[in-house]
Amino acid sequence: MASNGSNGAGTSPAYPITDHTFDVVVVGAGGAGLRATVGCAQAGLRTACVTKVFPTRSHTVAAQGGISASLGNMGPDDWRWHMYDTVKGSDWLGDQDAIEYLCKNAPAAVYELEHWGVPFSRTDEGKIYQRPFGGMTTDYGKGTAQRTCAAADRTGHAILHTLYGQALRAKTEFFIEYFALDLIMEEGRCRGIVALKMDDGTIHRFRANLVILATGGYGRAYFSATSAHTCTGDGNAMVLRAGLPLQDMEFVQFHPTGIYGAGCLITEGSRGEGGYLTNSEGERFMERYAPSAKDLASRDVVSRAMTMEIREGRGVGKQKDHIYLHLDHLDPKILHERLPGISESAKIFAGVDVTKEPIPVLPTVHYNMGGIPTNYHGEVLTKVNGNPDAIVPGLMALGEAACVSVHGANRLGSNSLIDLVVFGRAAGLRAAEIVTPGEKQSELPKGSADPALSRLDRFRNAAGSTPTAELRLQMQRTMQSNCAVFRTGEVLEEGVKLIRDVYKGASDVRVSDRSLIWNSDLIETLEFDNMIGQAVVTMESAANRTESRGAHAREDHPKRDDKEWMKHTLSWLDVKAGQAVIDYRPVHTYTMSNEVQYVEPKARVY
Ligand SMILES: Cc1cc2nc3c(=O)[nH]c(=O)nc-3n(C[C@H](O)[C@H](O)[C@H](O)COP(=O)(O)OP(=O)(O)OC[C@H]3O[C@@H](n4cnc5c(N)ncnc54)[C@H](O)[C@@H]3O)c2cc1C
Repeated sequence: MASNGSNGAGTSPAYPITDHTFDVVVVGAGGAGLRATVGCAQAGLRTACVTKVFPTRSHTVAAQGGISASLGNMGPDDWRWHMYDTVKGSDWLGDQDAIEYLCKNAPAAVYELEHWGVPFSRTDEGKIYQRPFGGMTTDYGKGTAQRTCAAADRTGHAILHTLYGQALRAKTEFFIEYFALDLIMEEGRCRGIVALKMDDGTIHRFRANLVILATGGYGRAYFSATSAHTCTGDGNAMVLRAGLPLQDMEFVQFHPTGIYGAGCLITEGSRGEGGYLTNSEGERFMERYAPSAKDLASRDVVSRAMTMEIREGRGVGKQKDHIYLHLDHLDPKILHERLPGISESAKIFAGVDVTKEPIPVLPTVHYNMGGIPTNYHGEVLTKVNGNPDAIVPGLMALGEAACVSVHGANRLGSNSLIDLVVFGRAAGLRAAEIVTPGEKQSELPKGSADPALSRLDRFRNAAGSTPTAELRLQMQRTMQSNCAVFRTGEVLEEGVKLIRDVYKGASDVRVSDRSLIWNSDLIETLEFDNMIGQAVVTMESAANRTESRGAHAREDHPKRDDKEWMKHTLSWLDVKAGQAVIDYRPVHTYTMSNEVQYVEPKARVY
């Protein structure tokens, strides 16, 4: 399989390369990467899964609340209602063909997980337990749906471990603790990737007919985020460096209930189980902002309401800068059974006994709606000669790294886990159609690893005067204060300037460890370099969109403007200048089949 040699490595800089050839290389072993891996392997394709962390340490493991599917186990449900909710949640920026695909295929995807061994919580009759979640309704917005399937409050943990088991069973070859550096592109086609094996510093070049990026979100570009430190959007950055665009990067989700100070998540499932928010007057203020859904309105709505309360002086605590989440009225038995994980987190990170006191919470960066544009097969799209849906051959993207787009301007809780498995499965099916097992692959172009290696070499020997940690902090603080829950043109323009300064400052970065063995200084620098490019396109896309939609709330443009702005932002990065180049793609305002009707845009109230 592997052959040693420097074939194609070129002259500069001389790092020996180990070559591998596979039919498919999946980068990422979170829920999306593992589901795609299983599908490709089952289709008889020789599949490698490359991951920088051990598979079961991927951020998917931290998902708490659950996975949506209209099983109807706890009351009437219909995938069309799920579709309606998702379109409305997306504030009409989601592509309706993709949303139809997601919601229609969700129940089968959950049953598949069940059959593969996910230990879901159960109803008295033994069916999969389902809880209410924000924005999930019955009968096109009339009632509250119980649609979110849960394994207590450790649903992601249960799913990820099960999928890893299935991937091993399907005889995938894992390359664990390999850090993917860059894509290998040849005349617009993706031919493979270059990776650094972190424990011994060797370089590995993977040639494949199909590369699938499932590298997760980039929450860590912000100062306070619920995501793991490894969520640095490496795949998104590889796409930017390959001269391809990212989509809808201005849409960053703030989860209403991060623990104040620590940022770790208290699942929306806690409000699904009956928890509610109060201000300094002890008032359940959500009743004023969302009279019908109240605490279960969608996340952007709740985060804004909390921010308004704090701004108007009704925050809690000494600084009056946060809000309380009450679970203390709930039966301790329910807390123990349904929310054991967050009870523990509240104890450890806030010193709170949830059966007796409220949890101090604050909106915290949680999810990236934007990412690599794809169709519902997972194939990566770019705009070529006016065609906004041109497929990039040899490349797919999935999960939080991708923008299908099913979440549009705002994702509903529990709709990410289902996105991972539905589109992970779709990618496997598509791969089986477009890749022939064992098909001979042409030689890689000469010097195919050079760009990746010179970038690596440059950072490894970076001898400037600013440590990576300092640059990262500047970036995180700028994103947190200039690209927040509420935005104005002025603050965003300042943000554009500040973030470009950080980008420029990166040329003065200092890496002090020159070795290649477990060099965390180097890896963090590569990750910072990945994030700063995404920070630039996020900030510029936000400054560019002069309307309010979903998570993008402009105080100077408070209304949604469908005439001008019902379109996806595409943003390329001019790597040299450190600036974004912006264009657009139309939203798919049609469905896949006539089993459901196009959901007409209307005002979004909960
Ligand atoms: C605390 C928390 C709770 C959540 N709860 C829910 C929930 O209840 N329901 C829900 O629907 N959603 C939830 N979400 C969102 C959801 O969990 C994530 O969006 C989803 O798990 C992302 O999965 P993924 O497969 O795309 O990426 P991840 O799980 O983030 O995995 C990324 C993978 O890519 C690999 N990788 C990245 N960069 C590289 C590189 N350079 N080289 C090699 N490998 C690389 C990593 O090793 C990892 O395996 C939650 C998110 C958080 C943070």
